[in-house]
Amino acid sequence: MRNVWDPMTITAPRPRRHKLRESIPAQPPAQPRCSACGTDAYLEFTDYVPASYAPDRESLRLPLVSYSCKHCGRHYSHKVPEDWVPPGWQWYA
Ligand SMILES: [Zn+2]
Repeated sequence: MRNVWDPMTITAPRPRRHKLRESIPAQPPAQPRCSACGTDAYLEFTDYVPASYAPDRESLRLPLVSYSCKHCGRHYSHKVPEDWVPPGWQWYA
């Protein structure tokens, strides 16, 4: 009687790749808005990073926007919904 180890059983990778926790946004994307003033009327957008795909093509990186509120001076930076762009944003070639 032989004791046979199946090498496939030992070396086969786990069927599920565990995802990086980083790929799961801590907070759901939100429309830019000053939570202190309760409005988006005074926002001044300073930076916008359009959505892009991660190198593994599995996860979409949501757009990232930075803005400040001209009314109270607070500054925000967070992810926004995939199809959101700053008002008046134009794509220059
Ligand atoms: Zn404000």
